Amino acid sequence: MRAGEHLMLMEEIIALEERHTSGLNVKRPIALVRGQGAMVWDADGRAYLDCMTGHGVATLGHCHPEVTAAIQTQAATLVACSEAVYNDQRAALMEELTHHTPGDLKRVFLCNSGAESIEAAIKFARFFTGRTEVVAAMRGFHGRTLGALSATWNAKYRDPFLPLVPGFRHVPFNNLAAMEDALTDQTAAVIIEVIQGEGGVHPADPAYLEGLRALCTERGVLLIVDEVQTGMGRTGRWFACEHFGVLPDMLCLGKALGGGVPMGAVIWREALGKLPAGIHGSTFGGNPLACAASRAVVHVMERDDLPGRAARLGAKLLADLRAIRSPLIREVRGRGLMVGVELRRRATQVLRALMERGVLAMPAGSTVVRLLPPLVIAEEQLDQVVQAMAQALADVMDTRGEAAREEEE
Ligand SMILES: *Cc1c(COP(=O)(O)O)cnc(C)c1O
Repeated sequence: MRAGEHLMLMEEIIALEERHTSGLNVKRPIALVRGQGAMVWDADGRAYLDCMTGHGVATLGHCHPEVTAAIQTQAATLVACSEAVYNDQRAALMEELTHHTPGDLKRVFLCNSGAESIEAAIKFARFFTGRTEVVAAMRGFHGRTLGALSATWNAKYRDPFLPLVPGFRHVPFNNLAAMEDALTDQTAAVIIEVIQGEGGVHPADPAYLEGLRALCTERGVLLIVDEVQTGMGRTGRWFACEHFGVLPDMLCLGKALGGGVPMGAVIWREALGKLPAGIHGSTFGGNPLACAASRAVVHVMERDDLPGRAARLGAKLLADLRAIRSPLIREVRGRGLMVGVELRRRATQVLRALMERGVLAMPAGSTVVRLLPPLVIAEEQLDQVVQAMAQALADVMDTRGEAAREEEE
């Protein structure tokens, strides 16, 4: 709290926002005003362990000192600088980021969100192949702009906006025969999450991805791997495709890439070459502020081996969650610090109980509680998350009769 700053009460914030908000979000009745590391605070001063991290954005936690310093310094140096010219921060980021991308994934298009990276990848795939069709997976999520939405599976997101971009079809995830049947001589690309996030934290089978890679190569189809959620260390490797030894033709990034500053990227194989000038672009894409923030993310991830930390802590988190004895749990799955607890019922009440116990988590589909803690979370904090989960499940069991009636209404 700085001197002279007006402290708004939680109810004031909520009422003010409600007066103007789009209505598009189902919001929890709290207003967050501050964050530090794995903790966030609401306007009443109540602390929460943050396993939402703004949908998996804050992988370095909130207000990481190096990200904050990078943003502050760059804000006082140069902020507005489009790709009409070259820039030191952009040049350095492209070099430093592609140091970690597998194979010859070296060509970079920078944009401002996950959906924008998907839009760009779809356009680039059409351009590179001269074909127009795209095959995506059932339960897949790729964003909400019209192109990205065409690749997204959930009818709830799609149906109000039909017709979408033509030439998209969806096949069952982890089913190679279905994919093979769906490919035509007009298929430009297959787009896939190697661990489906929004759809419920479903990892791909290694044999499926291996087969998919071979199939795409054989048919001249580009393999787009959407790592908007799984990228940047979340799953225990810099990029989740590395777990499977699969080299995509294009990699889509977003969420954690900018350390909280909006940012997206498509990174494609050098073998595909450069694109011609003018066929795509973005005013804000590659701006020095986002690039400076992203460079700080890359540096800290490298120096502190955050992917390694995510792998180690994630294995423990999975084991500890699996040790919880609750009849409400159907399955615990995930990789690194991307974990889903699938329940035998809707996730809403468990999420609410978790919040009451001081942990913020997210749904993935209707029955999965998704945990995306920052990769810097302390082990004790992660233990607290597990404890809160066990307690929240017990809380919901205690009120089960009441709850069942509520849900029937
Ligand atoms: C969040 C997400 C997107 C969309 O990103 P936005 O920044 O919300 O547009 C796309 N793909 C995946 C896998 C995501 O998790």
